[in-house]
Amino acid sequence: MTDRHLLIIGGGIAGLSAGCYALRSGFRTTIIEHNLALGGVCTAWQRGPYTIDGCIHWLTGGPFAALYEEIGIIPAVKLRTLETWLIYRDARDGLEVAFTRDLDALVARLTAIAPEDSEELCRMREAAASLATMQPELGASELVGVRDRLHSAWQMRGAIGSLAHFRKPIAVWASEHLVNERLRRMLTRLLPETTPALFLLMVLGYLEKGYLSRPVGGTEAFRDALKSTYLNLGGEVQLHATVDEVLVGGDRVRGIRLADGTIIDADLVVSTASAPETVLRLLGGRYDAEVTRDRLARWKLFDPIVLASFGVERAYKDIPSTLLIDGIAPFSIGGRANEHLYLRVYNDDPSFAPTGHTVVQAMLATDYTWWATRGTRYGSEKDAVAATVLAQLEPHFPGIRAATRVTDVATPLTYWNMARAWRGAFEGWMPSGESFFAHVNKTLAGLRGFYMAGQWVEPGGGIPMAVMSGRQALQLACADEKRPFVATRE
Ligand SMILES: Cc1cc2nc3c(=O)[nH]c(=O)nc-3n(C[C@H](O)[C@H](O)[C@H](O)COP(=O)(O)OP(=O)(O)OC[C@H]3O[C@@H](n4cnc5c(N)ncnc54)[C@H](O)[C@@H]3O)c2cc1C
Repeated sequence: MTDRHLLIIGGGIAGLSAGCYALRSGFRTTIIEHNLALGGVCTAWQRGPYTIDGCIHWLTGGPFAALYEEIGIIPAVKLRTLETWLIYRDARDGLEVAFTRDLDALVARLTAIAPEDSEELCRMREAAASLATMQPELGASELVGVRDRLHSAWQMRGAIGSLAHFRKPIAVWASEHLVNERLRRMLTRLLPETTPALFLLMVLGYLEKGYLSRPVGGTEAFRDALKSTYLNLGGEVQLHATVDEVLVGGDRVRGIRLADGTIIDADLVVSTASAPETVLRLLGGRYDAEVTRDRLARWKLFDPIVLASFGVERAYKDIPSTLLIDGIAPFSIGGRANEHLYLRVYNDDPSFAPTGHTVVQAMLATDYTWWATRGTRYGSEKDAVAATVLAQLEPHFPGIRAATRVTDVATPLTYWNMARAWRGAFEGWMPSGESFFAHVNKTLAGLRGFYMAGQWVEPGGGIPMAVMSGRQALQLACADEKRPFVATRE
């Protein structure tokens, strides 16, 4: 290890990933984390005998699995391949569709529901298969030579037709290419409707290939494995410390200043904080601010959520572990109307609850400003939300209200308090036709020794992107420092 000090702002997945690669590449490394714990939004917490899992519904492996191996998550954590992504249920007439790995069966089922859309469904089937064979560029694109770029473009040639046809947001593509109203509605419910349709097809293609999984032991096991790699490599951490400024001298980073005034010197800084926090607050808008302001004006942020979890004294063995219930009367959660319930039923892993008990969790759209202006009513509004959600669940889980032993409600303010999620945007920029295909630089023009990683430089966010971007930030740092980038154990 050299005495070059690399400081990382934020101990979420991207920060921990950057930290592991930094240590392997010989830097002395410190993570400064605002929260009391590492993990960022990829976290889980305990409520009595129940584990409230705040993150991983599905983990994308396939081409990204090699990265999880590099940073010691696999084989430390076992991954259970997902056979079923989710079950869609229409409460109006009980129609159910299982989104399973058998895509031929799925397409047959959808064709039976919407025979007039059979041609487009076949096209989707083919696109899912071809998109899943595309190899994402895992390395920093800034360092990729012309030859490798041409090679990647050549590899994509089979999927170009699908990329063009399915590039539009799901809702737009559905209205342009699907006739059947029910099918349109179903497909636009599965992911945020601004997401390009091809993202949905990639998910289905990955599902078919067995690339989607859940870690045994849930998010906690995943986060803790990564944390262990970082600490075992000798990484340092300061928890409950908020960076207030990135210190710059002669257009080169010199260190950071914490909220309590402490100054920490550093030769290089990687920020995994949000784009507005990093560019506008910590750097005072002195580098590339217009680009960030422009994105804030044009790109949508991830819709904030309420995560309402219930520890229930029921086994719920036969209920799907991911259930989307559509066709219910709209109900309001913190200033936002919800028309469907997206539920995780944690009956697929014994680590979440004692035998005979289950955690049932609803992820609901909400409004940031509404929560931020509740004042002293904040606590009672959380109780009211819990009651509303339980009332919604009761028809689908008879007796749940009476069997609920523990209630936990996370709001956009929870995400702000624990992970400084800007305006509750827990996954950064919402993927859209523009942001999804955009390249966000991991450096700022004119500033040396400074890099960015995490979901704010990878629109759409997600764990694989957080891991990959931490790795890429270190590739760039190593290239600037003229030292080899080391990814694996020597
Ligand atoms: C409910 C939920 C479900 C999800 N489900 C999935 C899923 O199924 N699959 C999947 O792949 N992804 C999922 N995600 C998304 C995934 O968890 C995130 O995209 C990823 O963990 C982001 O990691 P990050 O390190 O980029 O950001 P973050 O986790 O936000 O980490 C940034 C860290 O920086 C710290 N920080 C910020 N500013 C400062 C500062 N000034 N000083 C000090 N520290 C600071 C924050 O406290 C935070 O810990 C889910 C997320 C949520 C919330």
